[in-house]
Amino acid sequence: MKREEILDGLRQSPKVDVCVIGGGINGISVFRELALQGLNVLLIEKHDYCSGASSALSRMVHGGLRYLENGEFKLVQESLVERDRLLRNAPHYVAPLPTTVPVFDIFSGLGNGIVRFLGLSRRPSRRGAVAIKAGLSIYDFLTRKRALMPRHQFRGRRTTLEKWPALNPDLKSSATYFDAWVSHPERLGIELLHDGFLADTEAKALNYAELRRTEDGRYHVEDHIGGASVVVEPAMIINATGGWIDIANETLLAPENRPAPLMGGTKGSHLIIDNADLRDALADHMIYYENEDGRICILFPYLGKVLVGSTDIRVDDPETVRCEADERNYILQSLAFVLPDIKIRPEEIVFQFAGVRPLPASTDSFTGRIPRDHFCTVVEPKDGGLPVLCMIGGKWTTFRSFGELAADMTLERLGRQRRVATTDRPIGGGRAFPTNTPVWLAQVATAKGLSGAHMAELFARYGTDAEAVAGFIAAGPNVPLPHTGYSVREFQFLIRDEAVEHLDDLLLRRTTLAVSGELSLDMMDAVLDLLAQEKRWTSAQRANERTRFLTLLDERHGVDEDMLSARNEPRSTECDTTAKSG
Ligand SMILES: Cc1cc2nc3c(=O)[nH]c(=O)nc-3n(C[C@H](O)[C@H](O)[C@H](O)COP(=O)(O)OP(=O)(O)OC[C@H]3O[C@@H](n4cnc5c(N)ncnc54)[C@H](O)[C@@H]3O)c2cc1C
Repeated sequence: MKREEILDGLRQSPKVDVCVIGGGINGISVFRELALQGLNVLLIEKHDYCSGASSALSRMVHGGLRYLENGEFKLVQESLVERDRLLRNAPHYVAPLPTTVPVFDIFSGLGNGIVRFLGLSRRPSRRGAVAIKAGLSIYDFLTRKRALMPRHQFRGRRTTLEKWPALNPDLKSSATYFDAWVSHPERLGIELLHDGFLADTEAKALNYAELRRTEDGRYHVEDHIGGASVVVEPAMIINATGGWIDIANETLLAPENRPAPLMGGTKGSHLIIDNADLRDALADHMIYYENEDGRICILFPYLGKVLVGSTDIRVDDPETVRCEADERNYILQSLAFVLPDIKIRPEEIVFQFAGVRPLPASTDSFTGRIPRDHFCTVVEPKDGGLPVLCMIGGKWTTFRSFGELAADMTLERLGRQRRVATTDRPIGGGRAFPTNTPVWLAQVATAKGLSGAHMAELFARYGTDAEAVAGFIAAGPNVPLPHTGYSVREFQFLIRDEAVEHLDDLLLRRTTLAVSGELSLDMMDAVLDLLAQEKRWTSAQRANERTRFLTLLDERHGVDEDMLSARNEPRSTECDTTAKSG
């Protein structure tokens, strides 16, 4: 449904069952759950979908080995179950990730673990081989029945350095186990939204909009694109704004009805590095290592580059967080510790990002020890306002079970029944996933008249939804773009089908062009031209959009216009993958 249709529909019929505010992965998850149960649900997102923490994660889909030392066994168990579900339900984006932990001590960590368990200390400390062995054995035990991936394995110092010669030679041994990673977390959010739309035609969502309670006690949707303000009458509100939860409650609840602060978010930053020695040094593994201060850091191959992170710093307002110079230095220093001979030049940092973990309020002075679990609480205003179910905490990995929990509480309050379970429900391009991918690709490529290479690229980006994208591409004349992997028709498909309002929606979230460091200035301008054409922008609007994007990219992601311009070379004028697409 188009934006204007949604707003017109609300003008004519303002009643909805539930209004979810916050379109990160958790808000979208509960939206999908409720839409599948037949509820008339409206999702309102202030910026773009999955533009907050849900675009800033380490891209690990994991049980959370280190949460074991905080005693969060239930969370680890739930996360491992959800990880394994995602491997089955979203195989186009979630894949196994062999993970290696370099071990620098034998016994340390154990004593501290016991001391922490007794509540006597919460200070992070080095983890030795015995502590890591204990954690990995629990991991194996929790997944023993499903056994989707191999069990953990230890290597001695010599065999570790044979496989990873660039690792710090002070190590004593290493442990390898399996977790998983997600390639396109923002796209998976869009696919979940679409699943909700497909399930129930009354379910609708708006990005770039806010819900506000006005002085007369009514609730208004404020549209930041067209400027409209439309009254809505939900029976209940779900606050899924993650790190913004207390700030959002201020717009929904009078001061006397607000709960004590629910959120104690911490900021984390990552770098994307383009350095072939670094990439090769990983031998396709994630290195999950402890920095000298005892903090866990990660690095793993990501879309041809290397993702490195992260930091953990308390913040109050997630609105404008970015990776600061001291965080960048910290991450580079941690890298120099674990891979001492690999030198990173500043221009090899092709992208950076930061976000706020929506952690529950906590007074713990060590951020790594704040619980990572999730829960919901319902705030009942005493002034006749609507109940607000607040979703607190949560990892990306557990978005389905968190959405399920919030949906079940909502259904119970509204006296509605659950009709559909999501546990085994494939997501978006994970539906009808082929058992024999080459055969599937060859068949679809032939049917749509695209080259095999083009079809394979579309499949990597959209899973089985690539068939619909290929159909759209094949149905019109195609024009190449400065980035040879993409074509004009593909961008038109995204603009028309995926609620794109700004250039950053396309370049930062619907595609991985920016995060993978592949975005050039020419490509940016070409995509902007397309968007301006589709939106019928004036040249002044186009110029404003260009400035908006370049400012955002520079301030939030450390990529300035000169860096984009340098990526214009070498240029290609041919879109090889469209050769057969007509
Ligand atoms: C550095 C870092 C690393 C992480 N790594 C991992 C990892 O590897 N694996 C993992 O499982 N988890 C990881 N996480 C955690 C995970 O990213 C988050 O738990 C998850 O994305 C939270 O999703 P959310 O929907 O609750 O919040 P968000 O994604 O932040 O969504 C909240 C949304 O609410 C919107 N909003 C705010 N105010 C309003 C309003 N008034 N009206 C409407 N909308 C509003 C915001 O714009 C935002 O889009 C990491 C988090 C960080 C920050």
